[in-house]
Amino acid sequence: MHELEVTSPATGEKVGVVSAADADDVRAAIGAARHGAEAMEEMAPFERAERLHVVADLIEEQAEELARQLTMESGKPIGEATDEVAESADIFRWAAEEAKRLETPALPGADPNKVVLTFRKPNGVYALITPWNFPMNIPAELVAPALAGGNAAILKPSELTPLSGMALVAAAQEAGFPEGAATVLNGGGEVGRALVEHEAVDAVGFVGSHQTAEAIVRAAGLKRTLIEASGNGPQIVCDDADLEAAAAAAVYGASFASGQCCVATERLLVQESVHGELVPLLLEEAQRAVLGDPLEAATSIGPLNNEAVALKMERHLADAVERGGEILVGGARAGGFPTPLYWPLTVVDGVTPEMLLFREESFGPVLPITTFTDDEEAIDLANDSDLGLQSAVFTSSLKRAFRYVNRLRAGSIVVNDSTDFWEPHPPFGGASRTRTGWGRIGGKYTLLDMTDLRTAIIDVEKTDD
Ligand code: NAD
Repeated sequence: MHELEVTSPATGEKVGVVSAADADDVRAAIGAARHGAEAMEEMAPFERAERLHVVADLIEEQAEELARQLTMESGKPIGEATDEVAESADIFRWAAEEAKRLETPALPGADPNKVVLTFRKPNGVYALITPWNFPMNIPAELVAPALAGGNAAILKPSELTPLSGMALVAAAQEAGFPEGAATVLNGGGEVGRALVEHEAVDAVGFVGSHQTAEAIVRAAGLKRTLIEASGNGPQIVCDDADLEAAAAAAVYGASFASGQCCVATERLLVQESVHGELVPLLLEEAQRAVLGDPLEAATSIGPLNNEAVALKMERHLADAVERGGEILVGGARAGGFPTPLYWPLTVVDGVTPEMLLFREESFGPVLPITTFTDDEEAIDLANDSDLGLQSAVFTSSLKRAFRYVNRLRAGSIVVNDSTDFWEPHPPFGGASRTRTGWGRIGGKYTLLDMTDLRTAIIDVEKTDD
């Protein structure tokens, strides 16, 4: 076992030390989880629901402290962290209620003596592997439905932001779930890999980059997997759109969580005829963004979480400039802060499909603008990506909106709001024919994914009275 230091991107100070799991810890956690899974299967859904509500109560009781810790380990503004903690509690409440409503069909048999009944059974021991950008929300999105479905959950949070996930699992343990039903293992990719490969782990829930997703899917073989990977979401602005609303949504989509969000506005596709009118609105909106200390209430953009994101931003912007893109605002790290991770909102015009800004997920506070002439071109540009999570379209025409809804390759399409729109219950995930993954997170949909349909075929004539 070795120690992992958690450093604040805001101050550069150490904000925590956790123990990284070694092979013995992995074996012990899986052994305990196997017992936990047996006990969970015995626990009635209504009892699981009661305990999930207790987890939510415990999160809410410590909300202020948890939000501060979340800000310190992730760098996100305190307002966003406060919302994230509240949403995590809400996710536990949703899972609790969905556990009670898990209806399954009863079917007539072709043979009139047969009755076909179905039930939802747990998948068993889950390895839940999560990223750093929503250190509490994403663990909640996986742990809550795993427990609601009667599974045991081993959470492996990001090595960069383990504290919030640990607090969440501690709340689940305190809420009275059976021993081994919810545990946490810290460490980097090697701990995640050991969990995925272990024969006594039955299923995997993963949220993170598409590169890691590929490695996990290969290692998981035939185990059940729920895979939520990277995005490169476009916001499309048509010539009939409310341009002020579109500008506000685009700036929000590029700056929320410093752009370190799977549904961030990674590309802004603007109809050529309104480009001249939209750009000043964007710049005006961008001026309102306040980069600074994430513990200050007025701050809307905190530091990036880690150096790898800053380096990727530098690489993407240098490539854009070399290929003829024009930086309208921002464009480099901001000086005068305690760490070199503070990055102002950056707007780049003249972005073309061969640029890295367009092709890859940048994951920072950058708004790359590309123009199109008609809907066909906008659809082609939007779909010119191997990622497809959530897209947005601004138009005042319902007919046009549905054209985009039908043709954009994305798990979800938001009409007249930001790509960053999120609520805990709609189905959310990658579109097929993309590398964003499969399965759906959100409300009952995660619970369906994390349970197995068991069918019973009963010959009524041959059963005793
Ligand atoms: P990452 O893929 O680097 O890491 C995610 C997790 O996987 C971490 O816990 C890490 O330790 C672990 N890991 C790394 N290698 C592994 C391996 N070989 N086997 C098992 N586990 C391994 O991602 P990140 O940088 O933490 O997160 C950012 C990415 O997550 C972005 O691409 C973002 O779009 C994506 N994301 C997606 C969603 C979604 O819902 N689709 C939500 C949030 C973030």
